[in-house]
Amino acid sequence: MYNEELTQFRAETVAWLEANCPQSQRQPIVRDQQIWGGRRRVFPSAEAQQWFEACRDKGYTAPEWPSEYGGGGLSSAQAKVLQQEMARMRCRPPLYCQGLWMLGPALLVYGNEAQKREHLGAICRGEIRWAQGYSEPSAGSDLANLKTKAEDCGDHFLVNGTKIWTTKADEADWIFCLVRTSDTTPKQAGISFLLIDMETEGVSTSPIPLISGESEFCQTFFDSVKVPKANLVGELNGGWAVAKELLKHERKMMAAFEGMLEKPAMELLELAQHAVGVDDSGALADDELRSDIARHLMRETAMGQLGERIYRQGKAKQSDPRLPLLMKYLGTSEAQTKDELILRALGDEGLSMDDPTVSLGLRKMVKQWAFNKSLTIAGGTSEVQLNIIAKRALGMPSAEGKS
Ligand SMILES: Cc1cc2nc3c(=O)[nH]c(=O)nc-3n(C[C@H](O)[C@H](O)[C@H](O)COP(=O)(O)OP(=O)(O)OC[C@H]3O[C@@H](n4cnc5c(N)ncnc54)[C@H](O)[C@@H]3O)c2cc1C
Repeated sequence: MYNEELTQFRAETVAWLEANCPQSQRQPIVRDQQIWGGRRRVFPSAEAQQWFEACRDKGYTAPEWPSEYGGGGLSSAQAKVLQQEMARMRCRPPLYCQGLWMLGPALLVYGNEAQKREHLGAICRGEIRWAQGYSEPSAGSDLANLKTKAEDCGDHFLVNGTKIWTTKADEADWIFCLVRTSDTTPKQAGISFLLIDMETEGVSTSPIPLISGESEFCQTFFDSVKVPKANLVGELNGGWAVAKELLKHERKMMAAFEGMLEKPAMELLELAQHAVGVDDSGALADDELRSDIARHLMRETAMGQLGERIYRQGKAKQSDPRLPLLMKYLGTSEAQTKDELILRALGDEGLSMDDPTVSLGLRKMVKQWAFNKSLTIAGGTSEVQLNIIAKRALGMPSAEGKS
């Protein structure tokens, strides 16, 4: 797309955002204001609903998906303009959903026409909330070791087994699952990818509490669950290819996940200045903390530039497939570094998640620190990411695990 057309598109986008995004939706997102959609969807306010519906009707819940499936049909350059303008105006993301971040992009590649028509539109419209059924008690990093079995029963599969760490499965309407459909082939060649309605008889969930005091995820059980054959995505025993495509998108999302979380009222440096004070020259009073914050901000800037480089290479059709492999590891490690710096700056006030004498804002930051410990585990652990980088980006021999 020519620069002039993009300039025109930017002007139209700004005008559309000005007209459709209420002021209340131009604030940093707060966790209990996120819209996750689904059959039991709730809206935190009338203006949040209005903003969601405006985006839904314009296709901006999934700006780059084709418009015939409910997306915005934007080119990657246009989607980037939209993203930039939304960030500049601090517009909240209209919809949070694993269907949007993970399943949809994989269905666009591997789904048949009927599956795309049934599921993509419902995701964009926030009608169906999805959960991810990959991990099992003995299959996390070693995902291909999964045992949940789907037996071929003519017109349907009969699914038995259990999935663990399934985020918000108790609130989900459907779950995408990796299941074993053959025991006689090498592990990865006996896996299929199934879509399962959580309301089907025999599906149940049990919440698992976290150190943050919340319960983000569940164990999900399948007890003789009948799944129509039409819900098989890709080839029978060809699920590993679908799984890997989906993981690519999950890791991309995880690399940027920190940006989707609730934001502290102050930026890191401002917060540290507030908590630790400044010296006569106006610099942060704690030298060591100042150097560590500077190092973190430099790495954050470098990561932003790496992201820009990957985007530009893609646009020029000159992608270096090694670079995206770095992003999950770098993005999640840096998010945790930032949390540690926040806690150091907070001092004694960073010691409790639930001390009522400490302000709610500070307690939330400590909770965020605890929750963000999971970023280097979910979607493939950092150790496994390093194995992948060693092997695929650097050409070294390694054992990959959940790759
Ligand atoms: C917040 C959160 C949400 C999640 N949501 C979901 C979800 O919705 N759906 C889902 O299916 N799963 C989900 N997961 C599970 C996640 O994918 C797994 O936790 C992850 O893949 C690691 O598997 P595991 O927990 O079994 O750890 P293990 O695989 O048992 O690993 C234990 C330790 O051994 C290390 N290790 C393992 N293999 C290797 C190796 N080859 N080389 C070097 N080190 C290795 C790991 O790095 C780790 O430190 C979630 C996890 C978290 C934390």
